[in-house]
Amino acid sequence: SQASRVTHETSPSKDDVPVHGLSEVIVGVLGGGQLGPLIIVLRFANLREDRCDVLTVEIEHVDVATMEMLEQQGVDCQPKASTIRIIQDKYLQKVHFSRHAIPLPEFMQIDDLEGAKRAGELFGYPLMIKSKRLAYDGRGNAVAHSEEELSSAVAALGGFDRGLYVEKWAPFVKELAVIVARGRDNSILCYPVVETIHKENICHVVKAPANVSWDIRKRATDVAYKAVSSLEGAGVFAVELFLTGDGQILLNEVAPRPHNSGHHTIESCYTSQFEQHLRAVVGLPLGEPSMKTPAAVMYNILGEDEGEPGFILAHQLIRRALSIPGATVHWYDKPEMRKQRKMGHVTIVGPSMGDVEERLKSILKEEGSDCK
Ligand code: ATP
Ligand code: MG
Ligand code: MG
Repeated sequence: SQASRVTHETSPSKDDVPVHGLSEVIVGVLGGGQLGPLIIVLRFANLREDRCDVLTVEIEHVDVATMEMLEQQGVDCQPKASTIRIIQDKYLQKVHFSRHAIPLPEFMQIDDLEGAKRAGELFGYPLMIKSKRLAYDGRGNAVAHSEEELSSAVAALGGFDRGLYVEKWAPFVKELAVIVARGRDNSILCYPVVETIHKENICHVVKAPANVSWDIRKRATDVAYKAVSSLEGAGVFAVELFLTGDGQILLNEVAPRPHNSGHHTIESCYTSQFEQHLRAVVGLPLGEPSMKTPAAVMYNILGEDEGEPGFILAHQLIRRALSIPGATVHWYDKPEMRKQRKMGHVTIVGPSMGDVEERLKSILKEEGSDCK
């Protein structure tokens, strides 16, 4: 319904629009999550409820059929609806990237228990079972450690009717991510490779830059560049990667929008991923993506308890962070506190990775957590 209000017919002439910024292009953002307000805060433009010149997304789980219809009517969507259609279905995404010769874990659609057993025989165990659609923070993933666990893992995901596929287990030693920006002129810039550390499938800590060899950084960037080049439209994309023990880089998934692995860029890079996304979709020159600080670490504040007790714990952590040099606190002001929910994040910048890790430990030590 948000999208259907966006039409060009209702646009007033450019003369009616007071211009205050670098661009008079009005950007519509589909989605209502924590990334939207960050994009809007950094907008260049006057946001009006009933019109926009460019339509973008802050989440891939939008009504893509409506987006395609709008595109046919002439609404300028960046990235393109075709990109959202590919990405919002993880199985389609895998088919797309394998056709473009991007390295990724082997995968297979499963429609029934027999199919799941065949996949288990082929790929071995543990076996990663994933929901094709509406997945985030690992909520569409279930691991079967043996054939006996297949049916309970499938049931945990809501059954075969939900649309499932399996991936061969990726024996990764690190998870890496690369934010890639593509402008309207198809120019592409890549941010430095970061390491992401997950806790129960949820991104918890991001280290920038990743402590890997020059060769691995180069190959990770090449895979990310190639993956984004195969998609249509402008914007910022996040490419999640696995680094295996034998040095292979495999693609996990791509997000067609600013991403948790790029939050550190607000404090640590010359151009934040949010500003970059707007530059890209509006058609301004892309900004410099490199780091302006030697090291940064980003820590997600995840809900540790429901309701008030959870807020108290989070606020204690924030108070400790506020006394740490180089630390910046971002609180999303979500109305409800739930266990494992992303409530905010803290980014610490400093002269070396060892230094920022020490500062993070000092924020976390009173609650007995560790940042690995
Ligand atoms: P996000 O919040 O990043 O969108 P998601 O719900 O889409 O997460 P995935 O990125 O598919 O989930 O998987 C979440 C995590 O599960 C990965 O970051 C990784 O740690 C683990 N994982 C995913 N696929 C595999 C695999 N094939 N083998 C081993 N581990 C995996
Ligand atoms: Mg995902
Ligand atoms: Mg992911």
